[in-house]
Amino acid sequence: MIDVAIIGCGVIGAAAAFELSKYQASVVILEKENDIAMGATRANSAIIHAGYDPKPGTLMARLNVQGNAMTEQLCRDLDVPFSRIGSFVLAFSAQEAKTVQTLYERGVQNGVPGLQVLSGDEVRQMDPLVSPEVVCALYAPSAGIITPWEYALALAETAVRNGAELRRSTRVTGISKIEGGYRIETNREPVEARYVINAAGVYSDQIHDMVAPHAFTVIPSKGEYYVMDKSECYRARHVLFQCPNEAGKGVLITPTMDHNLLVGPNAENVDEPQHPSNTARGMAFVREKAARTMPSLTYRAAIRNFAGIRANTDIGDFQISIAAEHFIDLAGIKSPGLSSAPAIALEAVKLLKECGFAPEKKEHPVTTRRKKRFRFMSEEERKAAVSENPLYGRVICRCETVTEGEIVDAIHSPIPPCSVDGVKRRAGSGMGRCQGGFCGPRVVDILSRELGISPLCVLQDGEGSFILMEETKKEAQA
Ligand SMILES: Cc1cc2nc3c(=O)[nH]c(=O)nc-3n(C[C@H](O)[C@H](O)[C@H](O)COP(=O)(O)OP(=O)(O)OC[C@H]3O[C@@H](n4cnc5c(N)ncnc54)[C@H](O)[C@@H]3O)c2cc1C
Repeated sequence: MIDVAIIGCGVIGAAAAFELSKYQASVVILEKENDIAMGATRANSAIIHAGYDPKPGTLMARLNVQGNAMTEQLCRDLDVPFSRIGSFVLAFSAQEAKTVQTLYERGVQNGVPGLQVLSGDEVRQMDPLVSPEVVCALYAPSAGIITPWEYALALAETAVRNGAELRRSTRVTGISKIEGGYRIETNREPVEARYVINAAGVYSDQIHDMVAPHAFTVIPSKGEYYVMDKSECYRARHVLFQCPNEAGKGVLITPTMDHNLLVGPNAENVDEPQHPSNTARGMAFVREKAARTMPSLTYRAAIRNFAGIRANTDIGDFQISIAAEHFIDLAGIKSPGLSSAPAIALEAVKLLKECGFAPEKKEHPVTTRRKKRFRFMSEEERKAAVSENPLYGRVICRCETVTEGEIVDAIHSPIPPCSVDGVKRRAGSGMGRCQGGFCGPRVVDILSRELGISPLCVLQDGEGSFILMEETKKEAQA
């Protein structure tokens, strides 16, 4: 019997696996998709929130502030791009100025460091393209930006290097209590585990209901975004929020860790949380709201749209508790879930210990990771990388300067990608202006060569997303 089974490998399952892999315990992560971070973790605003937004006394308030404080060192250790650029909540009226004051007071109560209320002119000195209509703003210097899928990958990869087992394309379909633990039914082999962690995102209410009386309902809410070319990144130096409302934190404008500009999201409840798509209505809403923050913003340099699904619930806080004997919910983790992830993982270990989980800590667990990123290397480092491995001398993605060496390294990493988008999330190829138009076919070739599979079997992303139908030239010759 396995010690701990984690259901779901978004950032929450990955962070829990990372923490647990430091103990002398067997850990299995069950993920229904063919890669990790395929849910909310790959499609969000990528902000490490400061923590002034959640109501004092909630789990969200405590874990957001604690998670924010942990993120910097963790990202340094795991070589994850993170930058504490600070955020503003902008007020456009006397009424909104009151909201800013309330957020300031909440933030102070929550223990957020360095908060200040600044005048509109002070804001525009720090971020010159902010609207002249802004009267004041809450400044939170501890807010940051991160690459969310890379964060989850780094946590999960490190857990795997510590001995955790990741089973992808493994959907949990049922759970029953057995002597000393649980039997977890999946579309593959069943798993028996002493302890179970539910980190199934928008499906976490369904997983909870398999073992305990119904306690909360996930109300999926879609958020849609524009990604702008790097040429637009100069427009925002900080994360620019508007005042939050019932539907969430509102439309923001922010630079990303890849030096793009991100604009969005809207918030719309949806019935079907799988494969969210962008709509003309959603994008029009984003444009209209963003114009308030930055009237000069245009969308000529938009290179991509995407949408993510929030796991909002009817309880208004994270659902983190012992749901049944030896069964922990890390459920309904909506925003600020990304910001709170490392603190939620510590909370999970604490709850497991309350349930009787008592293994020793490993003496020397792996807690660091290093990645080679050709585009950030000095000339000297590039020369050394190419002489060590000539594949580093062949640029595959011209927009992002990603080399064949990085792609091959990604394909042989602890959690190997099985799709072109999986390579993109690990190596950064296809992230640029042409969105993989140039490098996509080359990445298909490299995946096919390295995995020893036909190019016809290479996927774009999830299960069944084949790119090529047949070998047309061969047929023509015959
Ligand atoms: C539009 C939007 C904007 C956001 N912005 C921010 C932000 O700026 N800052 C912030 O802190 N937070 C933000 N969030 C919230 C943050 O993205 C989430 O809190 C976080 O990603 C949740 O991680 P998770 O692991 O719980 O869920 P997910 O990433 O959704 O992972 C759950 C995993 O469980 C798997 N799974 C589900 N059911 C099963 C099953 N039956 N068997 C096996 N596996 C299963 C799924 O495939 C998935 O991989 C935002 C969210 C959205 C949608």
